[in-house]
Amino acid sequence: MWSRKRIDIGWSDLLAGVYYVCFSPPPASVSRRVEAAWPDAERTLACLSVRSGFDLLLSELALPRGSEVLVSAITIPDMVRIIEHHGLTPVPVDLMPETMAPSIDQWRRAISPATRAILVAHMFGGRLDIEPIVELAARHELLVFEDCAQAFAGTLYQGHPRADVSMFSFGVIKSSTALGGGVLRVRDVNLLRRMRRRQATYTLQTRGHYLKRLLKYAGMKFLACRPVCGCFAHLCRAIGFNYDRWVNRAARGFPGAALIAQIRRRPNASLMGVLERRLRNYNALRWQRHSDKGRTLAKLLIDEVSCPGANSAPHTYWVFPVVVDSPKRMLENLIQAGFDATQGQSLCVVPPSDDRPSLRAVVSEQLLSNILFLPFYPELTARESQRMADVVLAGTNHKEQK
Ligand SMILES: *Cc1c(COP(=O)(O)O)cnc(C)c1O
Repeated sequence: MWSRKRIDIGWSDLLAGVYYVCFSPPPASVSRRVEAAWPDAERTLACLSVRSGFDLLLSELALPRGSEVLVSAITIPDMVRIIEHHGLTPVPVDLMPETMAPSIDQWRRAISPATRAILVAHMFGGRLDIEPIVELAARHELLVFEDCAQAFAGTLYQGHPRADVSMFSFGVIKSSTALGGGVLRVRDVNLLRRMRRRQATYTLQTRGHYLKRLLKYAGMKFLACRPVCGCFAHLCRAIGFNYDRWVNRAARGFPGAALIAQIRRRPNASLMGVLERRLRNYNALRWQRHSDKGRTLAKLLIDEVSCPGANSAPHTYWVFPVVVDSPKRMLENLIQAGFDATQGQSLCVVPPSDDRPSLRAVVSEQLLSNILFLPFYPELTARESQRMADVVLAGTNHKEQK
């Protein structure tokens, strides 16, 4: 069985992490070395997570209550919760499936006198050209927050130079994960200085907290190994254990309601040590090959099946979603063929505010209710990827013939 997700971290990184925690944490200056991996370390801040950094940003910006933040309609629920926590109104902007981003007209139409900022996400590993958004924002004096949490690609892309903030995540399910960690590139040096000062008042993430993560995800990495994953999935079915819900919960960073309290922490040196190591050892060739494989898969499927975001270029294919008519049946077919696909419960469609109900993101809702994420990561061979495409296409044709 090909597991739905592989945690993108090596055993040696996990061992290094355990070593840092237990025997010899790197010096506190290690976060400066993380920041130095971006072109302008003066404008870069390492945080516990993107959510921590985004919350820190909104704390320092202190936008007037009731200000609107336009948000590309599909994102993770926590980003929306953070905006609301700061007394701001998230306004969804529906998107085009081909790029997983709103068109420039959709952005423009959503702007109101209360709008102060745009939060645009690069989805699924694809990268947008945000130049038109930056232009639009400049004309309306809006801030641009660029969510690159799903789009880390080493030094190939480190944020748009004119974005006010670009955010990169190294959370558990992201590529090049350090089991946590986020990096924000902030254009305004003074703002960044204030954010740094505020972060310094946060309590430090404990070593025990990070050690627990290292051990937990080492366990999950083991369960995702190919022979193990099959046995584990069968066992779960046999005893009626809801493996799906468990995996989704386990892969989520900050569970429960205490979100804000939990994200207001400073990353400890062990986490920063592992992140520094991940950045230093980033394997561009491995991701290049994976990206080629993704393009091949997209070509096989795209005439028959909708592959949201596949039109973005460049694209790392960090995940590979398809939108199908009957996701449940397709899921069954895929699992039977040894591909543990999933319906992606970690994303949400941003709901419209009460006073702007016309902004309901209908296309996004439709898309998310029929989406399936195929197991797709560098370890999946080209031949297996082809076989997976055959399973998907067979399911699709079957329906048309009826
Ligand atoms: C993962 C993710 C985040 C949050 O990143 P963390 O570092 O886990 O806080 C934000 N936005 C998007 C689109 C994401 O996929």
